[in-house]
Amino acid sequence: MSIENQKPSTIAVWGGEEKPLAFGAAQVPIVQSAPFAYRDLDEWAAVALNKAPGHIYSRNTNPTVGVFEEKCRLLEGAEKAIAFASGMAAISNSLFAFLRPGDRVVSVKDTYGGTSVIFLNILPEMGIDVDLVDTSDGDAIDAAIAKGCKIAYLETPTNPTLKIIDLDRAIASAKRAGAMTIVDNTFATPINQSPIAMGADLVVHSATKYLGGHDDAMGGVLAGREDLVRQVYQYREICGALLPAFSAYLLLRGMKTLDLRVQKQNATGMAVARFLDGHEKVESVFYPGLETHDKHDVAKRQMRGFGGMLSFAIKGDFNTLKTFIGKLEYVHRAASLGSVNTLIGPPATTSHVECTAEERAALGIPETLLRYSCGIEDADDLITQLDRALAAI
Ligand SMILES: *Cc1c(COP(=O)(O)O)cnc(C)c1O
Repeated sequence: MSIENQKPSTIAVWGGEEKPLAFGAAQVPIVQSAPFAYRDLDEWAAVALNKAPGHIYSRNTNPTVGVFEEKCRLLEGAEKAIAFASGMAAISNSLFAFLRPGDRVVSVKDTYGGTSVIFLNILPEMGIDVDLVDTSDGDAIDAAIAKGCKIAYLETPTNPTLKIIDLDRAIASAKRAGAMTIVDNTFATPINQSPIAMGADLVVHSATKYLGGHDDAMGGVLAGREDLVRQVYQYREICGALLPAFSAYLLLRGMKTLDLRVQKQNATGMAVARFLDGHEKVESVFYPGLETHDKHDVAKRQMRGFGGMLSFAIKGDFNTLKTFIGKLEYVHRAASLGSVNTLIGPPATTSHVECTAEERAALGIPETLLRYSCGIEDADDLITQLDRALAAI
Protein backbone atom coordinates (compact mmCIF):
# COMPACT_ATOMS: atom_id res chain seq x y z
CA MET A 1 0.00 0.00 0.00
CA SER A 2 1.49 3.33 -1.02
CA ILE A 3 2.49 5.86 1.62
CA GLU A 4 -0.17 8.29 0.26
CA ASN A 5 -2.87 5.92 1.56
CA GLN A 6 -1.54 5.79 5.10
CA LYS A 7 -2.99 7.78 7.98
CA PRO A 8 -1.26 11.05 9.09
CA SER A 9 0.46 9.43 12.09
CA THR A 10 2.04 6.83 9.79
CA ILE A 11 3.03 9.49 7.24
CA ALA A 12 4.55 11.62 10.01
CA VAL A 13 6.87 8.71 10.88
CA TRP A 14 7.57 7.14 7.46
CA GLY A 15 6.83 9.80 4.84
CA GLY A 16 9.87 10.40 2.63
CA GLU A 17 11.76 7.66 4.49
CA GLU A 18 10.14 4.59 2.90
CA LYS A 19 13.15 3.73 0.73
CA PRO A 20 16.53 2.65 2.13
CA LEU A 21 18.56 5.66 3.31
CA ALA A 22 22.25 6.31 2.62
CA PHE A 23 24.68 3.90 4.37
CA GLY A 24 21.70 1.81 5.54
CA ALA A 25 20.95 4.43 8.20
CA ALA A 26 17.66 3.89 10.03
CA GLN A 27 17.21 7.64 10.48
CA VAL A 28 17.70 10.40 7.92
CA PRO A 29 21.40 11.36 7.74
CA ILE A 30 22.38 15.03 7.94
CA VAL A 31 24.07 15.66 4.62
CA GLN A 32 26.22 18.60 5.65
CA SER A 33 27.72 19.38 2.25
CA ALA A 34 27.39 22.55 0.18
CA PRO A 35 28.27 21.06 -3.24
CA PHE A 36 27.93 17.46 -4.47
CA ALA A 37 30.89 15.90 -6.27
CA TYR A 38 30.89 13.76 -9.43
CA ARG A 39 33.36 11.27 -10.95
CA ASP A 40 33.08 12.68 -14.45
CA LEU A 41 31.53 15.48 -16.41
CA ASP A 42 28.87 13.29 -18.06
CA GLU A 43 27.47 12.15 -14.73
CA TRP A 44 27.59 15.72 -13.37
CA ALA A 45 25.90 17.16 -16.48
CA ALA A 46 23.12 14.54 -16.35
CA VAL A 47 22.23 15.61 -12.81
CA ALA A 48 22.61 19.32 -13.59
CA LEU A 49 20.23 18.97 -16.55
CA ASN A 50 17.70 16.94 -14.50
CA LYS A 51 18.30 13.83 -16.62
CA ALA A 52 19.46 11.82 -13.61
CA PRO A 53 18.53 12.06 -9.91
CA GLY A 54 21.03 13.76 -7.61
CA HIS A 55 22.08 17.06 -6.17
CA ILE A 56 24.38 19.85 -7.34
CA TYR A 57 24.48 22.51 -4.64
CA SER A 58 22.59 22.83 -1.33
CA ARG A 59 21.14 26.24 -2.14
CA ASN A 60 19.05 24.34 -4.69
CA THR A 61 18.43 20.89 -3.23
CA ASN A 62 19.83 18.77 -0.40
CA PRO A 63 18.98 15.14 0.49
CA THR A 64 18.09 15.85 4.17
CA VAL A 65 15.94 18.82 3.20
CA GLY A 66 14.36 16.71 0.46
CA VAL A 67 13.02 14.21 3.01
CA PHE A 68 11.52 17.07 5.05
CA GLU A 69 9.86 18.47 1.91
CA GLU A 70 8.45 15.06 0.99
CA LYS A 71 7.04 14.46 4.49
CA CYS A 72 5.33 17.88 4.37
CA ARG A 73 4.03 17.21 0.85
CA LEU A 74 2.45 13.94 1.96
CA LEU A 75 0.94 15.40 5.15
CA GLU A 76 -0.67 18.28 3.23
CA GLY A 77 -1.80 16.05 0.34
CA ALA A 78 0.08 18.37 -2.05
CA GLU A 79 1.66 17.79 -5.47
CA LYS A 80 4.93 19.43 -4.41
CA ALA A 81 6.50 21.05 -1.36
CA ILE A 82 9.62 23.16 -0.86
CA ALA A 83 11.36 24.18 2.36
CA PHE A 84 12.58 27.59 3.52
CA ALA A 85 14.79 29.09 6.22
CA SER A 86 11.71 30.22 8.19
CA GLY A 87 7.97 30.65 7.92
CA MET A 88 8.44 34.28 6.92
CA ALA A 89 10.88 33.22 4.18
CA ALA A 90 8.20 30.86 2.80
CA ILE A 91 5.53 33.58 2.94
CA SER A 92 7.65 36.44 1.54
CA ASN A 93 9.25 34.36 -1.21
CA SER A 94 5.83 33.09 -2.31
CA LEU A 95 4.32 36.58 -2.44
CA PHE A 96 7.40 38.09 -4.12
CA ALA A 97 7.56 35.30 -6.70
CA PHE A 98 3.96 35.83 -7.85
CA LEU A 99 3.24 39.54 -7.44
CA ARG A 100 4.18 42.34 -9.84
CA PRO A 101 3.45 46.09 -9.76
CA GLY A 102 -0.22 46.71 -10.46
CA ASP A 103 -1.37 43.36 -9.02
CA ARG A 104 -3.93 43.19 -6.24
CA VAL A 105 -3.94 40.95 -3.13
CA VAL A 106 -6.84 40.36 -0.77
CA SER A 107 -6.19 39.23 2.78
CA VAL A 108 -7.47 39.79 6.31
CA LYS A 109 -6.50 42.20 9.06
CA ASP A 110 -5.47 39.42 11.49
CA THR A 111 -2.64 37.75 9.62
CA TYR A 112 0.54 36.91 11.57
CA GLY A 113 2.41 40.12 12.58
CA GLY A 114 5.28 39.65 10.11
CA THR A 115 2.88 38.88 7.27
CA SER A 116 0.92 42.06 8.13
CA VAL A 117 4.09 44.11 7.75
CA ILE A 118 4.56 42.70 4.24
CA PHE A 119 0.96 43.64 3.42
CA LEU A 120 0.99 47.06 5.07
CA ASN A 121 4.48 48.28 4.11
CA ILE A 122 6.52 46.17 1.71
CA LEU A 123 3.98 45.27 -0.99
CA PRO A 124 2.49 48.80 -1.28
CA GLU A 125 6.04 50.16 -1.71
CA MET A 126 6.42 47.73 -4.63
CA GLY A 127 3.30 49.14 -6.29
CA ILE A 128 1.05 46.26 -5.27
CA ASP A 129 -2.48 47.00 -4.14
CA VAL A 130 -3.35 45.25 -0.84
CA ASP A 131 -6.91 45.03 0.47
CA LEU A 132 -7.12 43.79 4.08
CA VAL A 133 -10.64 43.02 5.28
CA ASP A 134 -12.26 42.20 8.61
CA THR A 135 -11.29 38.58 9.33
CA SER A 136 -14.66 37.57 10.80
CA ASP A 137 -16.73 39.12 8.00
CA GLY A 138 -17.29 36.45 5.35
CA ASP A 139 -19.35 38.83 3.18
CA ALA A 140 -16.53 41.41 3.17
CA ILE A 141 -13.98 38.72 2.21
CA ASP A 142 -16.23 37.57 -0.67
CA ALA A 143 -16.81 41.13 -1.88
CA ALA A 144 -13.12 42.07 -1.79
CA ILE A 145 -12.14 38.92 -3.72
CA ALA A 146 -14.97 39.42 -6.25
CA LYS A 147 -13.47 42.80 -7.22
CA GLY A 148 -10.65 40.78 -8.74
CA CYS A 149 -7.24 39.88 -7.34
CA LYS A 150 -4.23 37.76 -8.14
CA ILE A 151 -3.94 36.20 -4.66
CA ALA A 152 -6.42 35.58 -1.86
CA TYR A 153 -4.19 35.07 1.18
CA LEU A 154 -5.96 33.38 4.08
CA GLU A 155 -4.96 32.37 7.60
CA THR A 156 -7.17 30.41 10.02
CA PRO A 157 -7.29 30.17 13.00
CA THR A 158 -5.65 33.58 13.42
CA ASN A 159 -3.12 35.03 15.77
CA PRO A 160 -3.78 35.97 18.59
CA THR A 161 -7.60 36.04 18.86
CA LEU A 162 -8.29 32.70 17.15
CA LYS A 163 -10.66 34.05 14.51
CA ILE A 164 -11.90 31.56 11.93
CA ILE A 165 -12.27 32.07 8.18
CA ASP A 166 -14.76 29.86 6.34
CA LEU A 167 -12.28 28.24 3.94
CA ASP A 168 -14.87 26.56 1.67
CA ARG A 169 -16.55 29.89 1.11
CA ALA A 170 -13.40 32.01 0.62
CA ILE A 171 -11.82 29.41 -1.70
CA ALA A 172 -15.03 29.29 -3.79
CA SER A 173 -14.97 33.12 -4.10
CA ALA A 174 -11.33 33.02 -5.18
CA LYS A 175 -12.08 30.36 -7.82
CA ARG A 176 -14.91 32.49 -9.24
CA ALA A 177 -12.56 35.48 -9.40
CA GLY A 178 -9.73 33.43 -10.99
CA ALA A 179 -7.49 34.15 -7.98
CA MET A 180 -4.88 31.87 -6.45
CA THR A 181 -5.43 30.95 -2.78
CA ILE A 182 -2.64 30.67 -0.24
CA VAL A 183 -3.54 29.43 3.27
CA ASP A 184 -1.26 29.79 6.31
CA ASN A 185 -1.95 26.47 8.05
CA THR A 186 0.53 26.97 10.92
CA PHE A 187 -1.99 27.10 13.79
CA ALA A 188 -4.14 24.21 12.59
CA THR A 189 -1.34 21.88 11.37
CA PRO A 190 -2.05 19.24 8.70
CA ILE A 191 -3.40 17.05 11.52
CA ASN A 192 -6.34 19.38 12.16
CA GLN A 193 -6.99 21.03 8.78
CA SER A 194 -6.38 20.19 5.09
CA PRO A 195 -6.81 23.34 2.96
CA ILE A 196 -5.59 21.63 -0.23
CA ALA A 197 -8.34 18.99 0.01
CA MET A 198 -10.74 21.95 0.31
CA GLY A 199 -9.47 23.41 -2.97
CA ALA A 200 -6.70 25.79 -1.85
CA ASP A 201 -3.83 26.12 -4.34
CA LEU A 202 -1.05 26.55 -1.78
CA VAL A 203 -0.42 26.09 1.93
CA VAL A 204 2.37 27.76 3.93
CA HIS A 205 3.69 26.87 7.37
CA SER A 206 6.04 28.19 9.93
CA ALA A 207 7.65 24.80 10.58
CA THR A 208 9.26 26.48 13.59
CA LYS A 209 5.96 25.91 15.42
CA TYR A 210 3.99 22.65 15.48
CA LEU A 211 5.78 20.80 12.67
CA GLY A 212 9.12 20.92 14.49
CA GLY A 213 7.38 21.16 17.83
CA HIS A 214 10.44 21.48 20.07
CA ASP A 215 11.43 25.15 19.76
CA ASP A 216 14.90 24.17 18.61
CA ALA A 217 14.81 24.87 14.87
CA MET A 218 13.42 27.43 12.48
CA GLY A 219 11.97 26.56 9.12
CA GLY A 220 9.15 27.10 6.69
CA VAL A 221 7.41 25.19 3.94
CA LEU A 222 5.25 25.88 0.90
CA ALA A 223 3.11 23.03 -0.45
CA GLY A 224 0.52 22.75 -3.19
CA ARG A 225 0.09 22.84 -6.96
CA GLU A 226 3.24 21.71 -8.71
CA ASP A 227 3.35 24.49 -11.34
CA LEU A 228 3.02 27.19 -8.68
CA VAL A 229 5.47 25.63 -6.21
CA ARG A 230 8.02 25.31 -9.04
CA GLN A 231 7.71 29.02 -9.76
CA VAL A 232 8.48 29.84 -6.11
CA TYR A 233 11.31 27.26 -6.10
CA GLN A 234 13.01 29.13 -8.98
CA TYR A 235 12.80 32.31 -6.91
CA ARG A 236 14.10 30.60 -3.75
CA GLU A 237 17.04 28.90 -5.48
CA ILE A 238 18.26 32.31 -6.69
CA CYS A 239 17.35 34.37 -3.61
CA GLY A 240 18.78 31.72 -1.27
CA ALA A 241 16.31 31.44 1.65
CA LEU A 242 17.18 27.75 1.97
CA LEU A 243 16.51 25.45 4.93
CA PRO A 244 19.84 24.25 6.39
CA ALA A 245 20.30 20.46 6.50
CA PHE A 246 20.75 20.43 10.26
CA SER A 247 17.47 22.33 10.77
CA ALA A 248 15.76 19.89 8.40
CA TYR A 249 17.05 17.01 10.56
CA LEU A 250 15.69 18.60 13.75
CA LEU A 251 12.33 19.32 12.11
CA LEU A 252 12.13 15.73 10.82
CA ARG A 253 12.87 14.35 14.25
CA GLY A 254 10.13 16.56 15.71
CA MET A 255 7.62 15.65 13.02
CA LYS A 256 7.67 11.95 13.90
CA THR A 257 5.49 12.79 16.91
CA LEU A 258 3.37 15.46 15.19
CA ASP A 259 0.13 13.49 15.39
CA LEU A 260 0.70 12.40 19.01
CA ARG A 261 1.53 15.94 20.11
CA VAL A 262 -1.32 17.64 18.28
CA GLN A 263 -3.92 15.12 19.50
CA LYS A 264 -2.84 15.79 23.08
CA GLN A 265 -2.65 19.56 22.51
CA ASN A 266 -6.20 19.50 21.05
CA ALA A 267 -7.48 17.84 24.23
CA THR A 268 -5.51 20.16 26.53
CA GLY A 269 -6.60 23.25 24.57
CA MET A 270 -10.23 22.29 25.07
CA ALA A 271 -9.75 21.56 28.79
CA VAL A 272 -7.86 24.82 29.47
CA ALA A 273 -10.39 26.88 27.47
CA ARG A 274 -13.28 25.31 29.42
CA PHE A 275 -11.52 26.04 32.71
CA LEU A 276 -10.85 29.71 31.84
CA ASP A 277 -14.28 30.27 30.28
CA GLY A 278 -16.50 31.60 33.01
CA HIS A 279 -13.68 32.01 35.58
CA GLU A 280 -14.50 35.13 37.64
CA LYS A 281 -11.11 36.76 36.95
CA VAL A 282 -11.18 36.10 33.22
CA GLU A 283 -12.79 38.69 30.94
CA SER A 284 -12.92 36.63 27.73
CA VAL A 285 -11.59 33.43 26.19
CA PHE A 286 -10.87 32.96 22.51
CA TYR A 287 -10.92 29.31 21.41
CA PRO A 288 -12.71 27.90 18.35
CA GLY A 289 -13.70 24.78 20.30
CA LEU A 290 -15.98 26.76 22.62
CA GLU A 291 -19.64 26.81 21.56
CA THR A 292 -19.63 30.55 22.32
CA HIS A 293 -17.01 31.25 19.60
CA ASP A 294 -18.78 33.13 16.77
CA LYS A 295 -17.46 30.69 14.13
CA HIS A 296 -17.61 27.48 16.19
CA ASP A 297 -19.81 25.80 13.55
CA VAL A 298 -17.38 26.67 10.76
CA ALA A 299 -14.43 25.44 12.83
CA LYS A 300 -16.29 22.19 13.54
CA ARG A 301 -16.89 21.67 9.83
CA GLN A 302 -13.40 22.45 8.56
CA MET A 303 -11.14 21.29 11.42
CA ARG A 304 -10.62 17.78 12.81
CA GLY A 305 -9.46 19.25 16.12
CA PHE A 306 -9.55 22.78 17.52
CA GLY A 307 -5.84 22.97 18.31
CA GLY A 308 -3.65 23.79 21.27
CA MET A 309 -3.67 27.58 20.85
CA LEU A 310 -5.98 29.85 22.79
CA SER A 311 -5.97 33.35 24.15
CA PHE A 312 -7.71 35.01 27.04
CA ALA A 313 -8.03 38.45 28.57
CA ILE A 314 -7.85 38.74 32.33
CA LYS A 315 -9.77 41.37 34.28
CA GLY A 316 -7.55 44.30 35.32
CA ASP A 317 -4.78 46.19 33.57
CA PHE A 318 -1.32 45.50 32.16
CA ASN A 319 0.12 45.36 35.70
CA THR A 320 -2.39 42.63 36.65
CA LEU A 321 -1.17 40.75 33.60
CA LYS A 322 2.46 41.12 34.71
CA THR A 323 1.64 39.78 38.18
CA PHE A 324 -0.35 36.88 36.76
CA ILE A 325 2.30 35.83 34.26
CA GLY A 326 5.01 36.02 36.94
CA LYS A 327 3.15 33.48 39.10
CA LEU A 328 3.23 30.71 36.51
CA GLU A 329 5.95 28.16 37.12
CA TYR A 330 6.09 25.58 34.36
CA VAL A 331 5.69 27.78 31.30
CA HIS A 332 8.07 29.65 29.08
CA ARG A 333 7.35 33.35 28.93
CA ALA A 334 8.42 33.43 25.31
CA ALA A 335 7.44 34.19 21.73
CA SER A 336 6.69 31.31 19.40
CA LEU A 337 4.12 28.56 19.88
CA GLY A 338 3.39 24.92 19.14
CA SER A 339 6.17 23.50 21.30
CA VAL A 340 6.19 20.55 23.72
CA ASN A 341 6.64 23.20 26.44
CA THR A 342 3.71 25.45 27.27
CA LEU A 343 4.35 29.05 26.22
CA ILE A 344 2.59 32.21 27.27
CA GLY A 345 2.93 35.84 26.25
CA PRO A 346 0.99 39.00 25.46
CA PRO A 347 0.65 39.99 21.77
CA ALA A 348 2.84 43.04 22.56
CA THR A 349 5.84 40.72 22.88
CA THR A 350 4.71 37.82 20.67
CA SER A 351 2.55 37.86 17.53
CA HIS A 352 2.21 41.65 17.28
CA VAL A 353 5.61 42.82 18.49
CA GLU A 354 5.98 44.51 15.07
CA CYS A 355 2.86 46.64 15.67
CA THR A 356 2.40 49.82 17.68
CA ALA A 357 0.01 49.94 20.67
CA GLU A 358 -2.45 51.91 18.49
CA GLU A 359 -2.30 49.29 15.74
CA ARG A 360 -2.98 46.52 18.27
CA ALA A 361 -5.95 48.43 19.64
CA ALA A 362 -7.26 48.95 16.10
CA LEU A 363 -7.05 45.17 15.59
CA GLY A 364 -9.27 44.64 18.65
CA ILE A 365 -6.48 43.11 20.75
CA PRO A 366 -7.24 43.78 24.46
CA GLU A 367 -4.42 45.14 26.63
CA THR A 368 -4.69 42.20 29.05
CA LEU A 369 -4.79 39.52 26.37
CA LEU A 370 -2.48 36.53 26.78
CA ARG A 371 -1.73 34.01 24.11
CA TYR A 372 -1.41 30.50 25.52
CA SER A 373 0.20 27.67 23.60
CA CYS A 374 -0.53 24.35 25.31
CA GLY A 375 2.47 22.06 25.52
CA ILE A 376 2.32 18.33 26.16
CA GLU A 377 2.47 18.57 29.97
CA ASP A 378 -0.36 17.13 32.06
CA ALA A 379 -3.52 19.19 31.43
CA ASP A 380 -4.55 19.10 35.10
CA ASP A 381 -1.13 20.42 36.13
CA LEU A 382 -1.47 23.31 33.69
CA ILE A 383 -4.96 24.12 34.95
CA THR A 384 -3.86 23.99 38.61
CA GLN A 385 -1.08 26.45 37.83
CA LEU A 386 -3.44 28.82 36.03
CA ASP A 387 -5.89 28.56 38.91
CA ARG A 388 -3.20 29.50 41.45
CA ALA A 389 -1.92 32.41 39.38
CA LEU A 390 -5.50 33.71 38.93
CA ALA A 391 -6.06 33.42 42.69
CA ALA A 392 -2.96 35.61 43.23
CA ILE A 393 -4.31 38.60 41.27
C1 LIG B 1 5.41 32.17 13.47
C2 LIG B 1 4.45 32.32 12.36
C3 LIG B 1 4.87 32.73 11.09
C4 LIG B 1 6.32 33.10 10.80
O1 LIG B 1 7.16 32.01 10.90
P1 LIG B 1 8.72 32.10 11.31
O2 LIG B 1 9.16 30.68 11.26
O3 LIG B 1 8.80 32.73 12.66
O4 LIG B 1 9.37 32.96 10.27
C5 LIG B 1 3.92 32.81 10.10
N1 LIG B 1 2.62 32.53 10.33
C6 LIG B 1 2.18 32.14 11.54
C7 LIG B 1 0.74 31.84 11.72
C8 LIG B 1 3.08 32.02 12.60
O5 LIG B 1 2.64 31.64 13.80
